[in-house]
Amino acid sequence: MTLKERYNGVINYFKTNVPVAETELQYSNPYELIVAVILSAQCTDKRINQVTPKLFRDYPNAEALASASSDTIFNYIRSVSYPNNKAKHLVNMANMLLNDFKGVIPSDIDELVKLPGVGRKTANVVASVIYDKPAMAVDTHVFRVSNRLGLTKAITPLQSEQQLIKYIPEQYVATAHHWLILHGRYTCLARTPKCEICPLTECCLYFKTKTINKSAPHSLSNKKVTLKNDIPKLVMATKKIKTSASSATKKTAPKKLAAKNTAPKASIKPAAKKAVAKKVAVKKSTTVVKKTTEVKQTKFVAHSTSLKMGDKAPAFKAKDQNGKLISSTDLKGKNIVLYFYPKDNTPGCTMEACSLRDEHQYLSKKNFVVLGVSADDEKMHKKFATKYDLPFSLLADTDMSIIKAYDVWGTKQFMGKIYDGIIRTTFIINEKGLIAHVINDVKTKEHGKQILDL
Ligand code: SF4
Repeated sequence: MTLKERYNGVINYFKTNVPVAETELQYSNPYELIVAVILSAQCTDKRINQVTPKLFRDYPNAEALASASSDTIFNYIRSVSYPNNKAKHLVNMANMLLNDFKGVIPSDIDELVKLPGVGRKTANVVASVIYDKPAMAVDTHVFRVSNRLGLTKAITPLQSEQQLIKYIPEQYVATAHHWLILHGRYTCLARTPKCEICPLTECCLYFKTKTINKSAPHSLSNKKVTLKNDIPKLVMATKKIKTSASSATKKTAPKKLAAKNTAPKASIKPAAKKAVAKKVAVKKSTTVVKKTTEVKQTKFVAHSTSLKMGDKAPAFKAKDQNGKLISSTDLKGKNIVLYFYPKDNTPGCTMEACSLRDEHQYLSKKNFVVLGVSADDEKMHKKFATKYDLPFSLLADTDMSIIKAYDVWGTKQFMGKIYDGIIRTTFIINEKGLIAHVINDVKTKEHGKQILDL
């Protein structure tokens, strides 16, 4: 497999199966993101998400943070790693932001790294998440996973970043960062990668070398090879041992010496005992193989809406990206495409929105009004709609009242992790306000056509 093929294989897998990948840090504006990313160095996102709500409540912007003392900030973040240093960095960062950058977080990597507490990784995260730049932040997961897969041959994060940037198409760089992080966090674990559930084994260099690594007989990869290829050999071996054990007994224990107390133990022992021991060992291995193959994998079933065809569509009201109030009562007599999506500007949601944009004129001819709904605010919607020239309204359901009314918030699976979020679902509402179709299996790339074909 060439390097290019390896990259293609990995990117295609993630593009198709993990269209939405984003940071697990919770934030609602650039200031909060940079603070959260500074805090997250050498610490888990989970821990950071526990401390930031209180910090952001009391210090909601750079001005407030700049006026605080590092001792005060320490008390808010004492449970994260290196709280002393991070408290100082945060206060100094806020001051520099006000004094040197007029309070605006810079988009340039070289400028970003001037801020206290901001290293290259943090700068890349900020540049890619806030400014949509094709920047690859390399943390421990990205570094490990890309090396294992064979995407990189790096000994420093900078080398890893440069190699990844070289081969990943620009439009996927920012998302690839999250793909690799999440894969490393939930599947390709540092100590014991879960190769048995990993969908990337075909492209993975580490997996391939492990399968022939005799020095690691207990590695999972080797077990896999045993499972696949060696069952017939084991059966053969069992048969041979049976034969050799019985023939050894026959040879060394002639009838006249078969009586227990008369059999010359020394002549029977070595061959027969060895054969029996082998037989027991093989039996044990076979049992292990059987047990392994019998492990049943429980299939995760994601939440889906309880609303169904023929139900009365719940009423809704929310502002769109232009601040215009959109209400279901004003749309009586129209067919509505009400589509729920996880987040603005993410790959899957972008594909879905663009597909609806491209078919918009045909949907309009059929008297359809297209409305997108997510929990993003008006500002995020505006940015998203402008960037992709979307000709329809995106409702800012920030309090998630519409999302909940349509029962599209629930448990889903992403990169092996199970969590709650917006389930991608589209409702077609007819002129009478009844649900005419519920589309759970949204085909993001061709969703417009999917609706027209109903
Ligand atoms: S096959 Fe194993 S080592 Fe390779 S990416 Fe998957 S989990 Fe990691």
